[in-house]
Amino acid sequence: ATPTAIMVGTGRAAEKGVLFRDGAALQGLERVRVVALDKTGTLTEGRPVLAGSETVAGLSPDEALRLAAGLEGRSEHPLAGAIIAAARGRGLDLPEAQAFEAVEGFGVSGRVESRAVAVGALRYLDRLGIARDPALAAKAEAWSGAGLSPVHLVLDGRHAAALAVTDPVKDGARDAVAALRARGLTVAMVTGDDPGAAAKVAAGLGIAEVAAGILPGGKAEAVKRFREAHGPVAFVGDGVNDAPALAEADVGLAIGTGTDIAVESADVVLMSGAPEALSAAFALSRAVMANIR
Ligand code: ADP
Ligand code: MG
Repeated sequence: ATPTAIMVGTGRAAEKGVLFRDGAALQGLERVRVVALDKTGTLTEGRPVLAGSETVAGLSPDEALRLAAGLEGRSEHPLAGAIIAAARGRGLDLPEAQAFEAVEGFGVSGRVESRAVAVGALRYLDRLGIARDPALAAKAEAWSGAGLSPVHLVLDGRHAAALAVTDPVKDGARDAVAALRARGLTVAMVTGDDPGAAAKVAAGLGIAEVAAGILPGGKAEAVKRFREAHGPVAFVGDGVNDAPALAEADVGLAIGTGTDIAVESADVVLMSGAPEALSAAFALSRAVMANIR
């Protein structure tokens, strides 16, 4: 490939909002066999909303939401935003949390109005040694099957409520996946979210390979597994927890609207979060490389 052709190619890509860090990224994309996509914020809007709740007897849904939102007031996680917005929407006054602790990939805990409160994934309950309430666990499983992500509330050591959160997929995400598959690429989804909910979202997008329930740090391992199974991997993500996978991938593509650390770890930056930019990046790479030969 001549330096001039690559310069022209990266220039043309930039006009379309696809920034290749260097010529190697442009060339590397053409050799990719697998495209692994982060779910939250990459395939979905990344702005989840509360879609339902279930509580044990004696606890009102509003009280569960109020205590959960008080705790989440200290969290930066997108799920926290969904819970806080729902509580405010119901006109609830949010209490303040003390002794707040965030356990990355699991959930958050602390004290709210002198009660011990924890909010997070089902595996967070296991980690805290809290017994699952069978009715709440069953409800959560039904939500997962419908593509909703369950989040659990623990009050004073007891599994007390389950909340359902939904994060709509981006317009164009399904078409972008279809365009990648039409290029003969294997498309996979990688997420820390609940496996049931993730599988449902993936199925709706036409994605057959799913790595769900992945802990922070595990996304880079998933990239290695995909490489062993299929060949060179492109990873697409936006979050802090995507940075190691972006660095590990043969080509890392970050959403420009995502976190700084993701952008810094990437070889390609997609300026808009629109899924079309992804298929455009592959099309540009192939067009430029074909022209050069
Ligand atoms: P992802 O961003 O892919 O969901 P994370 O590693 O951030 O992955 O979180 C994994 C899971 O841990 C979440 O899906 C959720 O169940 C739980 N979790 C993490 N942080 C919080 C929080 N602040 N509130 C509620 N649940 C949380
Ligand atoms: Mg994300």
